[in-house]
Amino acid sequence: MSEVMEKVEPASVVQMEQAETLVRYRNVKKAFGDTVVLNNLDIDVKKGEKIALIGPSGSGKTTIIRMLMTLEQPTAGTIEVDGEMLWHKKVNGELKPADEKHLRKVRGNIGMVFQQYNLFPHMTIMKNCIEAPIHVLGLSKDEAKERAVAMLEKVGLADKVDMYPSQLSGGQQQRVAIARSLVMQPKVMLFDEVTAALDPELVGEVLQVIRDIAEEGKTTMMLITHEMDFARDVADRILFLDKGSIAEQGTPDDVLNHPKTERLKTFLGRFH
Ligand code: ADP
Repeated sequence: MSEVMEKVEPASVVQMEQAETLVRYRNVKKAFGDTVVLNNLDIDVKKGEKIALIGPSGSGKTTIIRMLMTLEQPTAGTIEVDGEMLWHKKVNGELKPADEKHLRKVRGNIGMVFQQYNLFPHMTIMKNCIEAPIHVLGLSKDEAKERAVAMLEKVGLADKVDMYPSQLSGGQQQRVAIARSLVMQPKVMLFDEVTAALDPELVGEVLQVIRDIAEEGKTTMMLITHEMDFARDVADRILFLDKGSIAEQGTPDDVLNHPKTERLKTFLGRFH
């Protein structure tokens, strides 16, 4: 092999990897004080891929996505989104701690919807959806409104633009929260048990909205859910977290129909 080939080949392989993988956790550890809650965590999420995180309460699911949202800092290891380190900055090839400016920039790539919808109660639905695109992305009011209407249509609430959150049901408010996140056009959407605080009869409409967005295929998603049927429908891959590490992972069929470990069998047994 010529010297040129030796140099070119590895570089092109690296490029292809970077094009495919959007989110990359490497050897991530998280401890709160002396308590290690995540260890040796490696996760790759490809562009457009939907990952569901399942597992018992306290297994570390929320911490995984809170770190991606830059709400928690890993104790060790690295997290990358679209080739950019979240908590570090490369300066002359060396890793330095990220400053606030860098964190703000990378945070802009990530959208998150929580259990609590957190809409601004004193603002109309439209105003809720255009605040961040205007003030964070610098869009004009018209551009922001155009995006907001498109996203509110997607969640079936375009006719509610002039209403206030208190005039909507919990399910509708959660759908607005999803639209509001999508307006920012994040590279990754994180959903943390978005239906956990809803009355059972409102769960379906919110899951349907997420299913619809997932089906479009463009949005990369990480979802934490206790709804196994939903995970089966939406996810390309399911990660089963137990005691701070990935105990098993695979396609929904692998994980939900053919669990290998006793821990996963026991966990799934609770849903039957
Ligand atoms: P899950 O989402 O799977 O329920 P979490 O990521 O919320 O799990 O929590 C994992 C572990 O980390 C739990 O034992 C929890 O008590 C602990 N933990 C989470 N956040 C904190 C915190 N801010 N301080 C101390 N311990 C925490």
